[in-house]
Amino acid sequence: MGLTGLEIYKLLPKKNCHECGPPTCLAFAMALAAGKASLDACPYVSDEARAALDSASAPPIRLVTIGTGERKLDIGDETVLFRHDKTFFHETGLGFELGDAEGPSALAERARDVASLDFERVGQHLRVNLIGVRSDTGEAGPFRLAVKAVQEAASLPLVLMAEDPGIMKAGIEETAGARPLIYAAAQGNWEAMAKLAKQAGCPVAVRGKDLDDLADLATKVAGAGCKDIVLDPGSRKLARTLADLTQIRRLAIKRKFRPFGYPNIAFVTCEDPELQIAEAGVYVAKYASIVMMRSFERWQVLPLVTLRQNIYTDPQKPIQVEPKLYSIGGEAGPDSPLYVTSNFSLTFFTVQGDIEASKVPSHLLVVDTEGTSVLTAWAAGKFTAEKIADALSTSGTIDKVGHRKVILPGYVAAMSGKLEEKSGWEVLVGPRESSGIPSFVKARWGA
Ligand code: SF4
Repeated sequence: MGLTGLEIYKLLPKKNCHECGPPTCLAFAMALAAGKASLDACPYVSDEARAALDSASAPPIRLVTIGTGERKLDIGDETVLFRHDKTFFHETGLGFELGDAEGPSALAERARDVASLDFERVGQHLRVNLIGVRSDTGEAGPFRLAVKAVQEAASLPLVLMAEDPGIMKAGIEETAGARPLIYAAAQGNWEAMAKLAKQAGCPVAVRGKDLDDLADLATKVAGAGCKDIVLDPGSRKLARTLADLTQIRRLAIKRKFRPFGYPNIAFVTCEDPELQIAEAGVYVAKYASIVMMRSFERWQVLPLVTLRQNIYTDPQKPIQVEPKLYSIGGEAGPDSPLYVTSNFSLTFFTVQGDIEASKVPSHLLVVDTEGTSVLTAWAAGKFTAEKIADALSTSGTIDKVGHRKVILPGYVAAMSGKLEEKSGWEVLVGPRESSGIPSFVKARWGA
């Protein structure tokens, strides 16, 4: 369990110099205990005190990175039980298991299929994150070949899944420097697995028989020098796994129970493909850092990545598109209509779809409204005549649009006079809803 504010205070230098930010050492201690400050902010902490305080100031759930490069997966570093308390930081990684008995060429093909899964939704790419290579043959040779084939075929981080340290060693040798997740250290093999993970600088998953066993193992593996640990409660029934994942999260966040201060991994065990989605969805909702599935189809992935996107989108930071001039519905020319809107992604994609439906290639000038919709931005002073006039003159619109007419959303018609005055452009008041664009452009643009 973490230290209390007063316990931390006893270890601080007590200079009350406020160089750390808060006015006193006591205030800083309270902030540290609440996880709202970093010990690094105080330059006067002794090495002894730092060692004692490090665990208190560490985040309740450690950030663990699997893989390297552009597709590396960061998990953990969560600080709350509920998104509305603050936000969730790292979305659940989705992975698919492949068995080494399939043979290298079949595995390579399947790995390419997994890596190519990519769904675009409100401007974001939703993708699968991991491939697990499982030792089904129980032999080092086929496992090594399988790992090699999957790694060459797909640039995704790997989960190496073998119980025998000798087999695991073969897999690790094929992935030098790639930081695969080593799965798993359990009661019978944890010393050897921890040694392999430490030598290779890889994260290691710890699998317990139950939560007590898991806490015991995590403590031992951490004591063996492994800092990056992933917890597997070992339960393989939906209700039990859900209860365990919830308990782990609660103990880590509320009690700062260090053995559970790591991200976790859950395994889908349902046989039925539709139930697999439901089971994985439960784990995405609460509180899996990684969900591994055995079978995969495109139709199974789409609902999961969509659910994940919804849960892990910060409601305080709306999804935005880049503010700039877009050409929509084909190559817009100098005589094409010019619409203006906000950079809230849902607004953008709705307007984009309606412009495409009009079948008239058009310019769409997107103004930076900090991700708010047209009306909200207008009410908040973020979608003003001045901002639109500025966007018209700085976005390159003048070079691409031959006429000097801009179509304003009907909801903000009230600013049309001011916009004409500020920009020098003629303002046409467009429909209130973008669904009216096809009929508007036909009637007013002669299209
Ligand atoms: S910088 Fe250190 S010594 Fe100074 S007030 Fe903060 S905690 Fe106390």
